[in-house]
Amino acid sequence: MKINIIRGKNQIGGNIIEIFTKQTKILLDAGLELDDEKNEQLPHIPELFEYAGYDAIFATHYHGDHLGLVYKAHKDIPIYMGERSYNIISASDNYNGHDTINPIGFLRHKEEIIVGDITVIPFLCDHSAFDSYMLLCKSGEESILYTGDFRSNGRKPFGMLLSSLPKKINKLICEGTTFSREGYFAETEKSLEEKAFKIFSENKGPVFILQSSMNIDRIVTVYRAAKRTGRIFLEDAYMAGITTAAGEHIPNPNFKDVYAFITNPSKYEFVSKYKRKVGKDKISKMHFVMCVRTTMLSYIKSLSEKMSFENGVLVYSFWSGYKNSESMKEFLSECEALGLKIKTLHTSGHADENAIRMLIETVNPDVIIPVHTENAERFKKIAPEFFVEI
Ligand SMILES: [Zn+2]
Ligand SMILES: [Zn+2]
Repeated sequence: MKINIIRGKNQIGGNIIEIFTKQTKILLDAGLELDDEKNEQLPHIPELFEYAGYDAIFATHYHGDHLGLVYKAHKDIPIYMGERSYNIISASDNYNGHDTINPIGFLRHKEEIIVGDITVIPFLCDHSAFDSYMLLCKSGEESILYTGDFRSNGRKPFGMLLSSLPKKINKLICEGTTFSREGYFAETEKSLEEKAFKIFSENKGPVFILQSSMNIDRIVTVYRAAKRTGRIFLEDAYMAGITTAAGEHIPNPNFKDVYAFITNPSKYEFVSKYKRKVGKDKISKMHFVMCVRTTMLSYIKSLSEKMSFENGVLVYSFWSGYKNSESMKEFLSECEALGLKIKTLHTSGHADENAIRMLIETVNPDVIIPVHTENAERFKKIAPEFFVEI
């Protein structure tokens, strides 16, 4: 098998990774650049966009920097991704009125998919996208493991993943996102839950939480803290669609302490199916944690006219870099002006050095090929006895 990293080697995001033999050619991820200006032109890959030159595309997870270009792929190329991952992005596409993709099959933990002379084996891993997979490609005696994006600090036990992986592989294509910050140690979701519990207990007013509707682990973290402090958990129509699609165990408006709400009357059809839905008047009398997005500022303002925001908090739960955007700055200062205290609560969706080192030791590769990183050299420092191909 040969590897061609079309994109994603010395940058974070935009992964496009080609694996091929004499008779089979597949792609692992086909993502957009994180910098949207770079996405105006499609990369020059005619066999992906103009004709079906690949036997299959395997998407490790639904983040745009891994899945975005799959939407633009030639319709005759078969697509594989996680089933719940697909349910989530199709719920998002449905809400936004976008066309969705049409996978031919779904990735399941350790279930082989054979394409020509390449066998792909998915391994369920933890990441800030739900239902993410590492992909092991085998052909003859050769094996290549691609990590996609992963972490050890989520709710899935990392040891279980490590024990299910092979103990010897030829090549490891490994993400190194957190290497931009040397010595970074990833806090766990469990520890975040304790911090959220403290914030929700100490501040008796309304709590708003600004976070990604697609980050299911974080939704669980915040829901658990809300439950422990006797607060109702409020999800808007978009988030409720996603949590419902993610599976029955994820907090959604079928839970007795979760309610759906809408910020725009035209979206009523998206909440009509839920048993538990609630309007602004009732919300203003509730003790709640409300999940919000920056686009909901006018809704938050109108709620402030119906209830006191005294001892209220807005919890910022994104990567800190987003705080520099003009729209975020404006949102946060408007929330402060409404009397909300701004608190930050976040941990990375990516593996820290310890976790990457543990993975490398477990699969014992002949060669490490860094991707999704701005500091590939760091692999040589954390795994000096291994060969790193930069
Ligand atoms: Zn990524
Ligand atoms: Zn990701």
